[in-house]
Amino acid sequence: MIPLGSCTMKLNATTEMEPVSLPGFADLHPFAPAEDAAGYRKLIDDLEGWLAEVTGYDRVSIQPNAGSQGELAGLLAIRGFHLANGDTERTVCLIPSSAHGTNAASAVMAGMKVVVVKAADDGSVDLDDLQAACEKHSDSLAAIMVTYPSTHGAYEDSITELCKIVHGHGGQVYVDGANLNALLGFAKPGEFGGDVSHLNLHKTFCIPHGGGGPGVGPVAVQGTPAPYLPSHPMHPEPEKRAGIGPISAAPYGSAGILPISWAYIRLMGGPGLTRATAVAVLSANYVALRLADHFPVLYRGHGGPVAHECILDVRGLTKDSGVSVDDVAKRLVDYGFHAPTMSFPVAGTLMVEPTESEDLGEIDRFCDAMIAIKGEIDRVQAGEWSPENSPLRHAPHTARALVGEWDRVYSREVGVFPTGIDPDKYWPPVARIDRAYGDRNLVCACPPPEAFAE
Ligand SMILES: *Cc1c(COP(=O)(O)O)cnc(C)c1O
Repeated sequence: MIPLGSCTMKLNATTEMEPVSLPGFADLHPFAPAEDAAGYRKLIDDLEGWLAEVTGYDRVSIQPNAGSQGELAGLLAIRGFHLANGDTERTVCLIPSSAHGTNAASAVMAGMKVVVVKAADDGSVDLDDLQAACEKHSDSLAAIMVTYPSTHGAYEDSITELCKIVHGHGGQVYVDGANLNALLGFAKPGEFGGDVSHLNLHKTFCIPHGGGGPGVGPVAVQGTPAPYLPSHPMHPEPEKRAGIGPISAAPYGSAGILPISWAYIRLMGGPGLTRATAVAVLSANYVALRLADHFPVLYRGHGGPVAHECILDVRGLTKDSGVSVDDVAKRLVDYGFHAPTMSFPVAGTLMVEPTESEDLGEIDRFCDAMIAIKGEIDRVQAGEWSPENSPLRHAPHTARALVGEWDRVYSREVGVFPTGIDPDKYWPPVARIDRAYGDRNLVCACPPPEAFAE
């Protein structure tokens, strides 16, 4: 289980992955003439059509290679629309404080000025602050970029209202669709007020990610910004040659991995996709409920439930025990789990997203590990271990730690097998390193040119 909140790490099924290696998909040149790429064209048309249907938008372009590229493409569409209206001064982009870091970066790249909108105490967008910002920037408002459900892991029941306020001031609504795994089959951004969105096929639609790509971040549009989708001067479809220009080097972006998402949608069908969303949300609520007595859940939607992910607040425990969020994250490695998303979007917290891919057994194993770690924090708090000498601070423990000298105040067994001897244990290759030291003290490992002399 890779419980990385906001990243939607789900199963990449073999049936979905295999076609990527078939020569018909793998060996085609990105600029092959249209008549030689009829199959790809069919696949792309299918996919763009299905994505438009599930999001409630008119048109989709799969050209962007990442969610962040989709954001840039979408904001350029909005900018294109305003410029075509002669609204050259509409450059302000409102971004809620809970937004993913890429949102603000994309706005700046699209030539916009970022204005941050506050979050209310419950984590939702503060509508009073939004109203004030819209009034203040009414003549220069280009757009709002809002993530729904938010990266606070909650459905905000004010989203329709929010869209209305922004539209009322001449702004466009960009709905960041990276959290579509909490909506698919139940709600469509294009229907609750969005003009433009991007999706992450390498999240919701099963393309593997986490090692740096490639990804696919389709941009979806409806209404006024629709004519401003990415184009390409060498596009195999002549009508897509003129326009706002390319957003990535190839006309169809990362076309080679599209069969994965195509297969996923075909395998699931409409009812299957809807059920996946339901199970993903149910799983997140199960985690939130099982862990609530051990780690407070920071934000919940109105009425109590979370969306497809939940933020576990470690800050109180850190204050009382000295055990940091890093210690919890690293200790999870000893229990055989990848750490959840750490300190995003709130410093000192962990964000957990189980997705529909994990069965109850695995989710329970994760919850058991978190509860056991809470038990270790209690022992620190009770004074049995100091934070510095605890297995939490020394985590993760490598196989090497099992041999040679051992001068720790806890046993080797507690270090490496916290839940008992496990023949299937995952062994991390390195122990704790000082991350900040590495970031600040770069070492060039390239040999000097003399080393290459004959
Ligand atoms: C992942 C994510 C993005 C960016 O997508 P990339 O493909 O990593 O560029 C944007 N917004 C949210 C909410 C995300 O979770």
